[in-house]
Amino acid sequence: MEKADVLIIGAGAAGLMAAYTLAKAGKQVTVLEACNRTGGRIHTLGNSLFFKQAEVGAEFVHGQLPVTLELLQQAGIGYSPIDGEMWQYRNGTFTKNAGMIEGWDLLMKKLNALKEDTTLDAFLETHFTDIKFEELKTSVRRYAAGYDTSDPARVSMLALRNEWLHEDDEHQYRIEGGYCALIQYLANEVKANNGQIYLNEPVTELHWQQGNAKVITAEQNSYEADKVIIALPLGVLQAPANQQGAVTFYPPIVAQAEAIQKMGFGAIIKVLLQFDNAFWEDEITEQLAGESLKDMLFLFSDEQIPTWWTQAPAHVPLLTGWLGGTPAEEWKALSPEEVLTNALQSLSNIFNRSVDGLKEQLVAWHVANWTAEPYTRGSYAYDTIDTPDALKVLSQPVEDTLFFTGEYMYSGTAMGTVEAALTSGQNVAKQIMNS
Ligand SMILES: Cc1cc2nc3c(=O)[nH]c(=O)nc-3n(C[C@H](O)[C@H](O)[C@H](O)COP(=O)(O)OP(=O)(O)OC[C@H]3O[C@@H](n4cnc5c(N)ncnc54)[C@H](O)[C@@H]3O)c2cc1C
Repeated sequence: MEKADVLIIGAGAAGLMAAYTLAKAGKQVTVLEACNRTGGRIHTLGNSLFFKQAEVGAEFVHGQLPVTLELLQQAGIGYSPIDGEMWQYRNGTFTKNAGMIEGWDLLMKKLNALKEDTTLDAFLETHFTDIKFEELKTSVRRYAAGYDTSDPARVSMLALRNEWLHEDDEHQYRIEGGYCALIQYLANEVKANNGQIYLNEPVTELHWQQGNAKVITAEQNSYEADKVIIALPLGVLQAPANQQGAVTFYPPIVAQAEAIQKMGFGAIIKVLLQFDNAFWEDEITEQLAGESLKDMLFLFSDEQIPTWWTQAPAHVPLLTGWLGGTPAEEWKALSPEEVLTNALQSLSNIFNRSVDGLKEQLVAWHVANWTAEPYTRGSYAYDTIDTPDALKVLSQPVEDTLFFTGEYMYSGTAMGTVEAALTSGQNVAKQIMNS
């Protein structure tokens, strides 16, 4: 087999962005992907049962994100703003625009005064000791679990502050044709620039010395290159050596392996439920809520699956459920059918309809338990107190031969996102081109 300039392990957004940037610059790249598709945590279901495109992984462009939006423009892929009402269902009552968590301003005041990093749990237990703050603490923990999919005992408070201060709720978009359109564009461009992409090739071993590397796949195929970009999810890098997806390094890279374990990787379960009609838009729901939910985008609740959203502003009979953080970790071993039952029970409680009735209306369903996926093993990275030091270690190439990329290799405000992955992929390619 011909030796490539650069081998890239993993064909997610980061790996493909690195491959695209290098291939366009004339480098000979080979991408090895474990699954039978490219995209990793970007996976758009295009089957006939689901409405147009249903996103199993990434769905939204969270803000005016420069790398993502520029790439979409280059590729000629459209995107449209999402728009709709925020609803809350709590203690039997629906509330529109329920607004911020009560006590949020006080929380931000104390957070702005924070000088030294600490975890969310430690911060709350230090600054909010009075019993009257119990609800605030529960809400904040739920928020950090839901949005950041993080463990409150490990997540960095300074990182959360940075993110909360830069939230851009005004500019949220969906990509026309689904996020997979972006992935398809990158993969096509790689191939058009003489790059190779091999699917169903899980890498198991990486043998390396300065300026030369050979990887072995599960099928015992081997590939060689001068340099290797490791574009694996953090969850796979953190997995013990005998686990599916894990890559063993010969010789071991001790400092990098330690840094990897110090970073946080969250858990997520996403549930897609397509019904024969959008019952949340009907009159029965309107009577129940006291107002029409026709324009509902998000619904937040205290149910087992607490967060739900629609395809607003489009009126489509698809509901998406979201369970993040430690509760999703605890559900890792549940079967899709068990998650479905819990999801329907959550909706039954909220909309006061029987589980059997909802089941009868169900046209298609999909449970994405990403934490149980061997080639992902979680949701996305969150910063721990040790993350800044770990990033310093991992952003240095190993003997100018091994390079790390992925959404976790990012320190801007769009942590955990596709933007983070694309930015990191672009950066690592530039690093190689300049080396
Ligand atoms: C449910 C969910 C919803 C999300 N929603 C959003 C959103 O709305 N907006 C947003 O911006 N971001 C969202 N994200 C985050 C976003 O999807 C990720 O940050 C981004 O896609 C990660 O890209 P990556 O290239 O770093 O990793 P990945 O996409 O995970 O790519 C890594 C690749 O490596 C492959 N691989 C693993 N092991 C091996 C091996 N041994 N050999 C070869 N290949 C291997 C994997 O199969 C995968 O293709 C979401 C993530 C999830 C899970």
